[in-house]
Amino acid sequence: MPLWVHELFHFFTSLIVGAIAYWEYGNLGLVAVAFFAGFLIDIDHIFDYSYYLITDFRNLNERRRIDLILDFFRPEYYIPRIRKVFILLHGWEYLLVISLLINAFWEGTPGLKFALIASYFFHLLFDQILCSGNLLSYFFFFRFFNKFSLEAFHKRIGGL
Ligand SMILES: [Zn+2]
Repeated sequence: MPLWVHELFHFFTSLIVGAIAYWEYGNLGLVAVAFFAGFLIDIDHIFDYSYYLITDFRNLNERRRIDLILDFFRPEYYIPRIRKVFILLHGWEYLLVISLLINAFWEGTPGLKFALIASYFFHLLFDQILCSGNLLSYFFFFRFFNKFSLEAFHKRIGGL
């Protein structure tokens, strides 16, 4: 699936969650929250891409500058080169962290938990189905303890 189709899905899913949140709670800010949680979290790819630019020296000399810029939109090209998957804002554990934070600090904002969690959940679910190698791939700590290795990310683990 081309990256733009993938992102378009995230875009619309987050807007749908935002629209439902607005319809239910009448707070326009929830649309922005859903948009951030379900779409803008992919800004963490900037980190992976920067890692590619910093570590792949030889390639930098070989490729034209315009191709280097366009590489940002071709993760299928640069990820196999760096053999790492950081995507630091992606992690099923964050759902728990988000829930606890909202319970502790933002309980007074109705719909916030729904907008954040539903939007983030659908983003991860879609990525999990289309991009992961196993059920643990989108757990931050799984990637962390595997040194963010691409092999671990794609590896099938038992029946998972
Ligand atoms: Zn994503």
